[in-house]
Amino acid sequence: MTSSLISSRNTPAKAPDLLANASAEFAAKLAETQALVRRAAAEYAPVTQASSLGAEDVVITHLINSLQLDIPVFVLETGALHTETLALLERTQAHSHALIRVFKPEQDSVIQFVRNKGQDAIFKSVELRKECCGIRKMAPLARALKGQKAWITGLRQEQSTARAEVPLQDDSEVATKGLHKFNPLAQWTWGDVWHYIAENQVDYNPLHDQFFPSIGCAPCTRAISLGEAFRAGRWWWEEETAKECGLHVKT
Ligand code: SF4
Repeated sequence: MTSSLISSRNTPAKAPDLLANASAEFAAKLAETQALVRRAAAEYAPVTQASSLGAEDVVITHLINSLQLDIPVFVLETGALHTETLALLERTQAHSHALIRVFKPEQDSVIQFVRNKGQDAIFKSVELRKECCGIRKMAPLARALKGQKAWITGLRQEQSTARAEVPLQDDSEVATKGLHKFNPLAQWTWGDVWHYIAENQVDYNPLHDQFFPSIGCAPCTRAISLGEAFRAGRWWWEEETAKECGLHVKT
């Protein structure tokens, strides 16, 4: 590890120390984000935030709380999250003014999947991995979004080539799903996200300090190395094009 990654107290530097780096347009982007989230609350209720408790999502929850907006937050507790993520969930539930709703998979479905397909099924094929995501994520997501008019996500254009065109407001699934989707951080850089976290001392998942930029379920997430793509640590054994769990895949 180089000296730049070591703090003055000779302890490993934290993610905000390493990553906070506001872009030149940050103030304008923040103002646009705040206006968008306010508009979502005012004009698209009932609206909810989908939170994985990753860096982008803790920023959005912090914005919702600081703007005192009536936007509940939901977390998909898949039963396979890291202990660090579960601990952050507990802290968020304790301190957030916005309601934090937790959605879990049907236990019978999980048990049947493991019993019939095996403990390591997710590593055997993309289809089996997506079946697991369907049980642990997609089915709870459908319950979380039931009755909602809109949802808010932490998608950013920078995260992957598949997300390079993510708009601030996505109305493309209103006809099929009846849902508007807001991506208020679409144009934020990774440095912008961490600048906001550092400036506002937002609580975050300590796995980010261990080079996990994108955090999902424990069996399917690893740290990345210098030079690797942002989502390289997600389903790392699969081809790049397969790497979505379905939450943000258009039908
Ligand atoms: S990310 Fe992995 S453990 Fe989590 S639901 Fe998808 S396949 Fe299952």
